[in-house]
Parts: sequence; C-alpha cells; structure tokens
Amino acid sequence: MNYKVLYRKYRPNTFENIIGQDYIITTLKNSIINQSIAHAYIFSGPRGTGKTSTAKVFAKAINCLNNDTGSPCGNCEFCKNFSENPDIIEIDAASNNGVDEIRNLIDNIKLTPSNGKFKVYIIDEVHMLTTSAFNALLLTLEEPPKHVVFILATTNIESVPITILSRCQRFDFQKIKIKDIVNCLEKICKEENIHYEDGVLEEIAYLSEGGMRDALSLLDQLSKNTDNISLELVENQIKIVSQSTIEELFQNIESNDIDNVIKEIDNFRNNAINYKYLVKKIIEYLSKKIIYVKKNIEVKRLSYLDYKNIIIELADTLNKININVDAYTILEIILLNYIDVKRSDNKKTITTPAKLQEKEEKNNINIDNPKEMELKDYNNLIDIRINNCFVNATKNDLENLKSLITNFLSSSYIDGKIKSILLDATLVTASPFIGVFCVEDNYASKIANNLVDLLENEFKNFNKNDIKFIFASKDKWEVEKQKYIENLKNNVKYTYIKEEFNNSDEILNDVFDITKVEII
Ligand SMILES: [Zn+2]
Repeated sequence: MNYKVLYRKYRPNTFENIIGQDYIITTLKNSIINQSIAHAYIFSGPRGTGKTSTAKVFAKAINCLNNDTGSPCGNCEFCKNFSENPDIIEIDAASNNGVDEIRNLIDNIKLTPSNGKFKVYIIDEVHMLTTSAFNALLLTLEEPPKHVVFILATTNIESVPITILSRCQRFDFQKIKIKDIVNCLEKICKEENIHYEDGVLEEIAYLSEGGMRDALSLLDQLSKNTDNISLELVENQIKIVSQSTIEELFQNIESNDIDNVIKEIDNFRNNAINYKYLVKKIIEYLSKKIIYVKKNIEVKRLSYLDYKNIIIELADTLNKININVDAYTILEIILLNYIDVKRSDNKKTITTPAKLQEKEEKNNINIDNPKEMELKDYNNLIDIRINNCFVNATKNDLENLKSLITNFLSSSYIDGKIKSILLDATLVTASPFIGVFCVEDNYASKIANNLVDLLENEFKNFNKNDIKFIFASKDKWEVEKQKYIENLKNNVKYTYIKEEFNNSDEILNDVFDITKVEII
C-alpha cells in the first residue's frame, strides 16, 4: 500500500516546476527583476492549471532576499520560513465568502509586514465573495498601502465585477497540453516507482482536461492497489473508452450494421461511460478521420459532409444533455441517422431557419383559425395525432391509459430508453386509440418521437392493445389545448385525418429534419 497524495507532494514550489504557463511565468519574473510589481493581480483559468501555485511562488519570490533572477532562491531566511510567514495570507473565498473576513483583512492591512518586504494576500476563488465583500475589497484595491500585494485567483472570471478587474493586472492561465501533462506524469512515476502500460499516461492526461491536479489525483487513484497500471484497469476504474472501440463503432456505421451500433451504445450506457468524455473522444476521432476523407485518402461511404454534420450534431448535444433525456439515446439517434444509405442527398441538407419559420408560420395559421383546420393538409405527425386524439378523447380514456402506463413502467416489457423518456413525460390526453404525451421542449419531443415506434411495439407486447402515441412540447401542447377549448366553444368538430405516411421511416425523417435546424 503506497498511498500518497501526489498532487500535494508534487505541488510546484519553484517557477521552473510550473507547467505550461511559460508566458505568465516570464512576465512575473521580469516584473521582479525590473522591480515593477503591481499591487493587484488576478489569475484566471480552469482548475488545476497552476494559479495558486504560481501565486505562492510569486509571493515567495517578491520577498526573497536574493531574487535577482526573478525566482525565489530557496535558501534565504525568508524562503526557508515561507510556510510559517504571517505576512502571506491565504483566503479561500469558497469557504469564507463573508464580508467579515474581508473587513478583518482590511483592518490588518495597514500594519507593515513583520519580516518581508511585502504582505501578500492570496484570495482563492475570489468570484465566490459576496457583493458586500467585493465592495469592501474594492475600497482597499482603490488605495492599497505600498507594502501590500493582492493575488486574486478564480476559475470563473465572468463572475468577478469589472470594478475589481479594472484594478488588477490580469493573467489567463491556459489548460495544460496533453504532451506536457504526460511528460510530468512520466517523471513522477519514475520518482514514485509506478509502472504502467503504454497509453495509460495519455489516457490520464486526456481525462484530466488540461488540469494537472486532476491528472495527479487520477494517477493516485490508479496506483493505489497495483504496481503496474494496465489500460484495462483504467478502463474499468475510470470508465474510459479505447480508441479501438470508437473505430469499431464507426466501422459498423460505415457498413450499416445497425444491430452492432445499438449494442455498442448500450455498452456505453451500461458501463456508465461519462457522456461528455465519450462525445469528446468521438469528436476527436472524427476530426482526424475527416481530414483523410477530405483529402480522398480514405474513400468511405460516409462523406466529408456526413462527418462534418456528425461532429456538429454531437458537439451540440454537449450543451443540451442537461435536459431530461437519456444522453445515450441522443447519441444513438444521431449515429443511426447516418446508417440509412437509402436517404437521398436533399434530405441530408440542413433545413434553413427561413424554411423553419415558414413552417411555423403555416402552423400558426392553423392555430389561429380553427375552422380552417379541417381543410389544411397535414404534413406533421404531431399535428395529425393530436387532432385524431381530440376526435374522441375522453377523461376516462386518459385515466385508463395513465394506469396502464404506470403498470407498463414497472413491467419487464419496457426498454431502458423508453422508460427514461416516459418518466420525463406527462400523458395529457387520450382517446381509445391515441395517447398524447407532453415533454419539456421541442428537442425532447423530437428525441421521444424518434422512438415512438419502439414504444408502440413494446406497449403492444405488454398490453395487446394497439395504441399510437405522440410526444409534443409543453408549448405545442398549450397551443393545441387552447385551440381545443376554443373549438369546443364554437362547436367546431375534430374529424379524423389519415396519417400520410405508410413508411414509418419517412415520418421519422420528417421529424428529424426539424432537429437539424436547432443544430445550426
Ligand atoms: Zn530566498
């Protein structure tokens, strides 16, 4: 058992050990050499990129008695006693965000430093301060005593008031490059006698997203119970996906092997692979692939445009996975969309916002003029099914179907994807033949409607009852409900409309085209 907190042990204590921030380090060192030290600095950047370490080394360097090179000498009285120095004051705003701490700080700020040349206040996660604490800090920043240096650090520069920012010299810390993290991990492994298989350090570096602290924590975690870290261990313990798995996935897409594509995505889901990580990994893979396809080095069934669209669609989901839909289902739908070779080229083109607007305007005509409704051509499955449901919807049917669905949800007939969709949906109206669900937004409704065939089949297996379903967004449902009430008042009857499409694929494609608009 060789447990060690590596990130503490290897926290950089010299400028030379700080990785990947060369420009910042050079500038800070020069300011010491030229004796042009500012009164306030703000270090911003992602976590684990060396902000606090840099702040501490800088605090040491400016007080060091032999700092002609810009670096702390490490030998003078000040450097040696740095950790006990009462003039280096660290405040973690994440845990002390009150105005009292800042007041306290201000009260003591006038006292000259007891040992060093400067009193240095390091305020970590400064964006967490309350407004009144910021105001108190601002007063001090406006007229700081000569012997005081503030170093503010934040992972969220947008939340720091501009009044504070304008009084600080700002340094933006960059994510550390994978290559640099790997180099650093190599050295530490050597030092700690940790062995590893080829590719392990690269995976760790990749997973840590440019943060050295995370990389070292992962290395810690993995080296805890083994002397030789295998890729398999990384896969099992940290839930990574290997390059070859992603390659295989795309080979299956290329060869239209739907079953295996679904199986592979199910594996991701069952192994609880982090979705963001997975998508980033896929995008990284595709970004390399797309160059070969563009250069015609690899002639594939999927074109350059296909690859480009997959990348755009997947990247778009990264911002949308907070909606209550199983993220893997979204992945599945996006990828399956590229399996069907029969699709013609014009269906692949992205619908322009103008076209969407036109479509919406058409819909609006329907909504505002209920009497016109029966005359209109329906090209939208949601409209048709809601309409057909209203033909003979009753409260009784709604209650019956609700309790059937409750039973269905706890039955063994239900697939995981369908379950997660139903759990986030509300059944809002029902006839003996059709059930209408309401979901959060358009995006969620498109995802759900793409699986409506599967839902109907499973529900039929469970219930022997042939019921059609449709999912509408909250907004859409609200409009349809008002229209329904209006029609009841005016005694306008709903009449049954034939669903135009016999081929369910085409219905789904029609629904899917709208999805693409949101991706732009
Ligand atoms: Zn020194």
